[in-house]
Amino acid sequence: MSGKKGGKKPDPFSKNPALKEFVRRVAGNHGLLILSKLWGRQLTDEELAKLTRLRVNLVRKILYDLYESRVVNYHRFRNEDNGWYIYRWYVEAEGALENLQSIQRELLRKLEERLEYERGHMFFACKNNCPRMTFEEASEREFKCPHCGEELKFVDNKEVIASLEAQIEQLKRQWGEGLQANS
Ligand SMILES: [Zn+2]
Repeated sequence: MSGKKGGKKPDPFSKNPALKEFVRRVAGNHGLLILSKLWGRQLTDEELAKLTRLRVNLVRKILYDLYESRVVNYHRFRNEDNGWYIYRWYVEAEGALENLQSIQRELLRKLEERLEYERGHMFFACKNNCPRMTFEEASEREFKCPHCGEELKFVDNKEVIASLEAQIEQLKRQWGEGLQANS
């Protein structure tokens, strides 16, 4: 699909699926469409609307979302005829990648924290799916569920731990290159 349009810079998404996923999360498939048209050029919102056949209001909203995530930026010019400002947008891949990597690092950090917490505690719960609690909390309540009054029993969290370990492992493998570049 990509790389067939002569003269343009190569599609960055082909080399960086994580960036693609990030843009999709921030701005959906329309965001990906806009970015693919904008890559390597500077365009106004109206030019982008024509190229993508999206409504200009939607293009503006998506540009703004992408701007907030540092994926795109703009240059502002004054129109000499009427004094209005013209915004020409461009892709700022460096910012996008940095932002992406800091989000990835943050998510990994949270998962690792959660894993530590799971490894470091025993959990208790009733049979009614009320929120589980730690041993300390359960013993304070004399092993009676504060929500329904049922008896609190030990809950094995081996599976939670295994699933967290697998998630962390997978993300590290998937993101490894990007994360190491900056840490
Ligand atoms: Zn309960």
